[in-house]
Amino acid sequence: MTMQSASPRAKRILMVGAPGAGKGTQADAIAKQFGITHIASGDLLRKHISDGTTIGKTVEDIVNKGELVPDAVIMDMLRKPVLSASETGGYVLDGFPRTVEQAEAAYRTAGSLGVGVQIAVHLEVPEEELIRRMLARARGADDTVDVIRHRIKVYEEKTRPLLEYYQSRELLIQVNGARPVSEVTWSIIVQLQRAFKRPNTHVRQATADKAVA
Ligand code: AMP
Repeated sequence: MTMQSASPRAKRILMVGAPGAGKGTQADAIAKQFGITHIASGDLLRKHISDGTTIGKTVEDIVNKGELVPDAVIMDMLRKPVLSASETGGYVLDGFPRTVEQAEAAYRTAGSLGVGVQIAVHLEVPEEELIRRMLARARGADDTVDVIRHRIKVYEEKTRPLLEYYQSRELLIQVNGARPVSEVTWSIIVQLQRAFKRPNTHVRQATADKAVA
């Protein structure tokens, strides 16, 4: 595997939304529709924790409290799966980036790979609905209302600023995520198909000033 082998036409989609917004479910549907790989940073972290790896031991407490894992750990963990998916059609990333710093790092990597522009999909869901959904699927004793509210607060403070970043830098698709799953999926797929048809979607990265910095 070499950096140069990433396809310039790889589809690269990022899901942005609060915990409980439906990123995982929609990322699965998108991956199936476009034949690309679904990569979920939260799932990878939970696997490290259950396998008891060094990464797992480092992040366990942080994840259980609903805080963000340090950027360096996340970047290291995602490098391989992202590169390999870039060589096989592309990916839909769910749970990454979560901060503007992570987005900038991902943007620089994409620039050095010469791959196409990323499309961010934002799922907007009101807070009370997020809490209702997360309580319904509570994973363990740690998923209390307090932890859930804290995770939403972390999202509002650290991740929401990403939307402005994507609006000005790349492509941002806004979706009302408080609807039945299939309606949301349909709305995302229609908008993505339209975006992929735009002639400059795959070349904008190459001409963007900071892309190769
Ligand atoms: P998720 O399943 O995406 O809600 O992620 C579960 C937890 O994993 C989060 O609450 C964070 O503690 C951690 N996490 C997942 N992705 C990231 C990321 N990109 N940056 C920092 N922490 C992350």
